[in-house]
Amino acid sequence: MAIQTINPFNNEVIKDFEEMTPNAVDAAVGQAETQFQSWKKTSYGERSALLHKVAELMRNKKDQLAHLITLEMGKLLAQSVGEINLSADIIDYYATNGERFLANKVLDTEFGEAYIKSSPIGVLLGVEPWNFPFYQVVRFAAPNIMVGNVILVKHASNVPQCAQAIEELFKEAGAPAGIYTNLFLSGKNASLLAADVRIKGVSLTGSELAGASLAEVAGKALKKSVLELGGSDAFIVLEDADIDQAVEWAVVGRMNNTGQCCVASKRMIVLDAVADEFLEKFTAKLTGLKVGDPMDASTEMGPLSSEAAAVQLADQVQRSVDAGARVVIGGKRIDRPGAFIEATILTDLKPGMAAYHEELFGPVASFYRVKDEQEAITLANDSPYGLGGSVFTSDKKRGENVADQLDTGMVFINHPTWTQPDLPFGGTKRSGYGRELSSLGIEEFVNKKLIRVSELTDPF
Ligand code: NAP
Repeated sequence: MAIQTINPFNNEVIKDFEEMTPNAVDAAVGQAETQFQSWKKTSYGERSALLHKVAELMRNKKDQLAHLITLEMGKLLAQSVGEINLSADIIDYYATNGERFLANKVLDTEFGEAYIKSSPIGVLLGVEPWNFPFYQVVRFAAPNIMVGNVILVKHASNVPQCAQAIEELFKEAGAPAGIYTNLFLSGKNASLLAADVRIKGVSLTGSELAGASLAEVAGKALKKSVLELGGSDAFIVLEDADIDQAVEWAVVGRMNNTGQCCVASKRMIVLDAVADEFLEKFTAKLTGLKVGDPMDASTEMGPLSSEAAAVQLADQVQRSVDAGARVVIGGKRIDRPGAFIEATILTDLKPGMAAYHEELFGPVASFYRVKDEQEAITLANDSPYGLGGSVFTSDKKRGENVADQLDTGMVFINHPTWTQPDLPFGGTKRSGYGRELSSLGIEEFVNKKLIRVSELTDPF
């Protein structure tokens, strides 16, 4: 995939970038490894000061950075601003709490004293997706820089200006060279790089194919990986839910980022008693969305991230329809330049159809009518993915009971799956393994070293 900015609003090529030569990549890894020897000895205070500075710069440049996001991948401008704010919050969160999360943990042992000390492990490689070009990067980079690790990032090829901007923020904040390095690389070469002995761990957010490719190389080289992959979150509506509120959240859950969230509410699973009402109101809301330029504040639905993404989604819809699915609304590309596709609702979906099993990464909702709570749970779990999910009900205990039976990494009650700095994020099944964010996210690439202190005694 060429490394270039293409504005998905009109598919115009804005800027091209060269892939780094093998020598340049080798030098970048070498610089990171050298820098690690100093960075691991810095205090938490020094690391925290750097991260707070990066967050401050990010907020100061919010409008400029948000503009880049919208230009490169088509997110509505207000949502791009929201992403910058959230990214700065995540950086501040680790800068403020990292030392506490990593403090020595004293063990209650039978003999002598023992504790666990958290130590950095070295150079890490992060492979990141375009759908949240700042947020995805900082949730990997911020905790690990706080740990004392150093970071190489291979970003998605369609957001090169965002990739450069993040590296610039670190430079401007005073980060020594090698703490945070952007690598312009193809996906294939990023996977191959995981074998380099100087790299001690890898993390990827993206598709299953890319995750498996990177993890295979890392596994052969016996190094740890964290994978945040696709999802097909169920949005379960029980008959005792407030339907108007559930519909409002369904629109947000499905349409945020033009439906291109790993934790988007992709499968609406609604109990029969309220299914007609839900579908009628949900359909009305999606039909009324104003389509247009994502830079325009009045636009409610912009393009997908790329022409290829729109072609792929339209193909998934068509394959489902060919197999017997029914289109409630939408289903087609919009007749205008750019990577646009209609807001779509599919129903009458059965096992074997594309939309039943595959992740639909865009504004296409799958609607299922079920007879009761148990059928909703069974259907929700009949997915290769296990990322998030939500349950709408007026009975908190009932919601928690359903949540307990969903085979996913996250369940939200009366809210679509969401994210914030202090909540762990990650999945089960083909959605990957490991966690980001919260105190869990800072522990993934840490040597949990046992230190045991004994009284000096004779061994016999
Ligand atoms: P993608 O093609 O897998 O791209 C993600 C990243 O992986 C990009 O940097 C890409 O580089 C790189 N890549 C591609 N092939 C690779 C390979 N063989 N080895 C190593 N790296 C490779 O994913 P996408 O379709 O653009 O992104 C959307 C996917 O990400 C969806 O499935 C979504 O659900 C998932 N996602 C998951 C989470 C989560 O937290 N679980 C969050 C957001 C998104 P190039 O751009 O150069 O190809």
